[in-house]
Amino acid sequence: NRSTPTCSASNRPARQLADIVTGQVASPRTLRDLSLRPVSVLKTVSDRKAAQLELWGVASVLDLLMTFPRKDRYIDRTAKASVAGLDVGTAAAVLAQVQRVRSSGGHNRNRKVPVTVTVRDDTGTMEVAFFNQPWRAKQLREGTEAIFWGKVGDYRGTRQMVNPVVDVVAGVDEPVLGRQRRTLRILPVYPASAKAGLTSWEIGTFVEEALERAGEFLDPLPGEWLASLDLWDRTSAMRAIHGPESLDVIRPARRRLTFDELFRLQLALVLRRRAFEHNARALRHDVSPREITGAVSGTLVSRFLGGLPFELTTAQRRALAVIVADLAGPFPMHRLLQGDVGSGKTVVALAALLGAVQSGHQGALMVPTEVLAEQHAVAVRQLLGALDVRVALLTSRVKGKARAQMLADLASGEVSIVVGTHALLTEEVEFSSLGMVVIDEQHRFGVEQRATLRAKGEGDPDLLVMTATPIPRTAAMVIFGDLDLTVLDELPPGRVVVTTKWLPLPADEHIAWDRVRQEVAAGHRAFVVCPLVGDSLRVEARSATEECDRLRAGELAGLRVGLLHGQMAPAAREEAMAQFRRGEIEVLVATTVIEVGVDVPEATVMVVESADRFGIAQLHQLRGRVGRGALASWCFLLGDGGEDGVAGERLAAVEKTTDGFVLAEEDLRLRGEGTLLGARQQGHTDLLLASLSDPDDRFLLTEARRVAEAIVTGDPQLEAHPALADEIKLFLSEDEGEYLFKS
Ligand code: ADP
Ligand code: MG
Repeated sequence: NRSTPTCSASNRPARQLADIVTGQVASPRTLRDLSLRPVSVLKTVSDRKAAQLELWGVASVLDLLMTFPRKDRYIDRTAKASVAGLDVGTAAAVLAQVQRVRSSGGHNRNRKVPVTVTVRDDTGTMEVAFFNQPWRAKQLREGTEAIFWGKVGDYRGTRQMVNPVVDVVAGVDEPVLGRQRRTLRILPVYPASAKAGLTSWEIGTFVEEALERAGEFLDPLPGEWLASLDLWDRTSAMRAIHGPESLDVIRPARRRLTFDELFRLQLALVLRRRAFEHNARALRHDVSPREITGAVSGTLVSRFLGGLPFELTTAQRRALAVIVADLAGPFPMHRLLQGDVGSGKTVVALAALLGAVQSGHQGALMVPTEVLAEQHAVAVRQLLGALDVRVALLTSRVKGKARAQMLADLASGEVSIVVGTHALLTEEVEFSSLGMVVIDEQHRFGVEQRATLRAKGEGDPDLLVMTATPIPRTAAMVIFGDLDLTVLDELPPGRVVVTTKWLPLPADEHIAWDRVRQEVAAGHRAFVVCPLVGDSLRVEARSATEECDRLRAGELAGLRVGLLHGQMAPAAREEAMAQFRRGEIEVLVATTVIEVGVDVPEATVMVVESADRFGIAQLHQLRGRVGRGALASWCFLLGDGGEDGVAGERLAAVEKTTDGFVLAEEDLRLRGEGTLLGARQQGHTDLLLASLSDPDDRFLLTEARRVAEAIVTGDPQLEAHPALADEIKLFLSEDEGEYLFKS
């Protein structure tokens, strides 16, 4: 009557008592069903514990069952023996009867005096000593039978256990069963929370009752798939992960549940993507890959590419070909362009924008900061050269008449390409026909902001998001699984490798300052990045100002030192950048506003103060501000390795390599994917089990993706898989569930 396959007969769940009484088989539990039951329905969960669990984020029985034991931390107490068969030096459980109890009684205040118990079975006797457990004398009366689990020692020729784990047994053949039992079984260790007042043992008890009462789980995956993926059924997996009969079953159980979580996520992403395409009204742009190869001339795109002062790299060419195919294709582009700092994403983006422009539409390039917007506008105009394409720069600084005019020109289509900040998102910004949107440094923007800008378009404009923060491909599949991925894995020729030095000792810091003076003397420029302080821009600005004064009077006395921070008036900031570019400022002391995009080829040294406060990705970004020309360049990281040495590992990694992808892997290793996924993954889509640094899990991820694609391709509404559809909806927000399944 059920299609759920089981992995072995012994794993078949016992039927529940209720079933036996009524003669009916209860229908298998769905996760939704479990999600609707609060933990307080469990007998083992008191009101107080329910409140504590809730504080800890465990509200429903489903939450509880998805609180998984720690990997590789099970306690194996399955070894059992007779008294005579106990091996000295090893741990085992023995069932024995209490023969005699000696204790100093309640009067002795010296708690070091143990309760000693002589126990016996058919094969012999053993001594058991309990320290600091005077109550054992009451518990273990003469004649009591109990299982003693512990390491066996030899005490004057007699076998002895000290402070063993004890399960009192009701009758000789019938040890106390179920959740009270702590011996002769494998105990899971849960990520207990001292703060919430919950112990691993308590959680285990709750979980055990939940599992007992849940009975059999509905398995949303058809048996054939389970077989072909070599996956266990859900019921067996759930039981085995929480209460394994042997250590061997833990791995396959985890594997199945890991697959579940990866599969849910991938299915949601594939559905999202499908809904996006299905609902889209794509513009088919009039642009062809032949314009990239030079086989077609005269178009805006081909003229632009032909007029560049450099050859595109192979990677740029490849990326552009894919992008152009998207632009011309029947679905709107939804693509992530990943490329390390300096890999030349802007040219690629600009060529794509021109593809929209030559098709009679407009393009928008959105960046996270005003400094960057200004700089991009300059770069774009420069790259466009003599081409007759009107570019506007829209930031919050454009005000009054100029703004009104610009908005009018955008609305009428006079302006073809607009570069801007969040200002582009405001309601007053309207386009005549927005056909393509590029978002740079996408991690600074939310999904909603992407959507807001696209919503200004005609139909569904093509979307290209760019990031210079490399992430491992598998991580990208999780974080950006609804985007197509293109990687620029090549830097333009002639780039110098930035020599990076971590200087942990204050006594060595002069090495950095000496280099700054030397480079400035050679006509080059330097950045000094101020420490991250607090989380207020104002505090940060003040400390940057102080640091600037300090350096002017000290290490950098005699040099022309300028200041750049986010609290400066925009005009002053622009002036500082311009002076730096022209060399009137030789050393720019700055906050992290220079993190993204600032492009001054003469800048050859960067000194990052208190570098231990920065993350790997941020340091990598910062370093990308130097070595942008052909000049030999340096980056100095000041700061110690931190008490736990983790900061040191980060700094050492950044010192060792300039390869963004290697650093991304290292970052993943040091921080774990939890932080990597950040706010994007929440609630039930968190990766609880899967670890992207584990090759087995990476394989499962690829499989999950493959299966998800296969299903959705044949059955976009999951009509043939109602259980799966229901489960996915459970794990999605309500709005998204509706969005994905309505169309
Ligand atoms: P990023 O990927 O960091 O945004 P940019 O697009 O800012 O990189 O490019 C960095 C610099 O390299 C710019 O000055 C750009 O003009 C230049 N550039 C881009 N592509 C090439 C190329 N193929 N050959 C030489 N220089 C290039
Ligand atoms: Mg860039």
